[in-house]
Amino acid sequence: MQVGIVTVGDELLAGDTENTNATWLCDELDARGVRVRRVTTVPDETGEIARVVNEYHAEYDAVIVTGGLGPTHDDVTMEGVAAAFGRDVREHPEAEAWLAERDGYSADDLDPRTTHLPADARLLPNETGVAPGAVVESAYVLPGVPSEMKAMFRGVADEFTGERTYAETVETPEPESALLDRIGDLRAEFDVSVGSYPGETVRIKITATDPETAESAAAWLRDRVEATDAEA
Ligand code: ATP
Ligand code: MG
Repeated sequence: MQVGIVTVGDELLAGDTENTNATWLCDELDARGVRVRRVTTVPDETGEIARVVNEYHAEYDAVIVTGGLGPTHDDVTMEGVAAAFGRDVREHPEAEAWLAERDGYSADDLDPRTTHLPADARLLPNETGVAPGAVVESAYVLPGVPSEMKAMFRGVADEFTGERTYAETVETPEPESALLDRIGDLRAEFDVSVGSYPGETVRIKITATDPETAESAAAWLRDRVEATDAEA
């Protein structure tokens, strides 16, 4: 399964808020064997949201959108997602009933737009907040508040499936450029994908579809590179 992620919010683009939702979702999806193909951040603008959701809906199996669900004027995500599917945003009786049953909230206290969803959307209740989420065709619309986003994603996580992969990491102080031949040999020898991530040391991530292959490939490479001080 392939997925595109869209994080919505002017504050993300201004650098005021770190985009932890994207990283958290990538990690969760990767652990399920789902391939995340794109992460895009867009401003709180209906047209920008609609354009990228429409594109990812055409390109991938699902789109996950987070942020901009509240009823304030700057929250336009539901409008954007609805527009991507040529629908309008309207009252959603199930969302209203759900909110009415919750302690402490009455629909009268809230802006009515809080429970307006794209036409024929499936409701995703927000167990830890107010604004509901929704599923529209392949698009899953989740809140921006990280705790609410995580709780809501967990409710639909089983709908995201893929081939599980197993990763092993090998770390070495050698410069990345010196490792190219050995990484080439590793890829020729084993059915693995290899990522190399330089920092103070180089982290080489070896991924396979079964744990034995990942472990044998990592052992093979560990025998052929200098170990870091910690390992030596
Ligand atoms: P609300 O109903 O409270 O308005 P919302 O779904 O509309 O929630 P936003 O208004 O977009 O969400 O953001 C709510 C809070 O969550 C803000 O503090 C925002 O900075 C934070 N937030 C939004 N998107 C992300 C993200 N991608 N990563 C981390 N935090 C985020
Ligand atoms: Mg908001």
